Amino acid sequence: MKLRKAAAASVAVLALAATATACGSDDKNDSGSSSASPGGGKIKVGIKYDQPGLGLKQPDGSFAGFDVDVATYVAKQLGYKPDQIEFVETKSADRENALARGDVKFIAATYSINDERKKKVDFAGPYLLAHQDLLVKADSDISKGTDLNGKKLCSVTGSTSAQNIKDTIAPKANLRQYGVYSECIAGLQSGAVDAVTTDDSILAGFAAQDKYKGQFKLAGLKLSNENYGIGVKKGDAETVKKINAALEKMVSDKSWQEAVDKNFGPSGYKNEPAPKIGVIVQ
Ligand code: GLU
Repeated sequence: MKLRKAAAASVAVLALAATATACGSDDKNDSGSSSASPGGGKIKVGIKYDQPGLGLKQPDGSFAGFDVDVATYVAKQLGYKPDQIEFVETKSADRENALARGDVKFIAATYSINDERKKKVDFAGPYLLAHQDLLVKADSDISKGTDLNGKKLCSVTGSTSAQNIKDTIAPKANLRQYGVYSECIAGLQSGAVDAVTTDDSILAGFAAQDKYKGQFKLAGLKLSNENYGIGVKKGDAETVKKINAALEKMVSDKSWQEAVDKNFGPSGYKNEPAPKIGVIVQ
């Protein structure tokens, strides 16, 4: 099967650093911040609300997950304490618009860097490499992409996962696109759909939840490379530069590994090593 892009992975260096300038001020592009000075103001940060292990709004109203920890670390480097962060839900299909409108200063929401999105937003990172995979019922016969043709498959509107299915992985699948992944997972449990597709990082988090334990299995296919970036408003080179420095520091001071262990440990998700800033695995 020729679907395993990861096997022939090559790398391309993003010209992220080259676009950053030494001058410029925050004030020009201070979207998502309620004050130009980090001292007393708040910063709005886009995350997912329903993805266990990555971005999850908990019953007590607090937030947890790898993206939440990355966002909190980055915000700290930008001068904002945890209580100055206001998390905002940015669903897959809403991310580009949320940045363009200035609803949030940056987005850390399992947001893959790709050329299409780079026309509308800028990215810092990458900070994690994931791969598209399939989640099926524990007793399912579906084990590869071509098994999906004619099957009811669920993914989310505005995701690379849905796009890859249509373009290459299984154009003949009966693709249902929901608003968020938790709806797909509920559909898998009820039998409304035969499989769910998105990043393995996300699927592993759902599969490990108490309410689903033992019911689902991941196919383990590595159908794509998903390089997670931090999205910022198009043209905000100064913020990209600062976030890249923050991400580099997060890896070098071991906070990145701590966040991995804390958030992926419970699901047993075997993540890739920390990516190099500006290096995209194709
Ligand atoms: N990482 C993929 C994307 O950015 C899938 C996960 C998501 O929808 O957030 O589209």
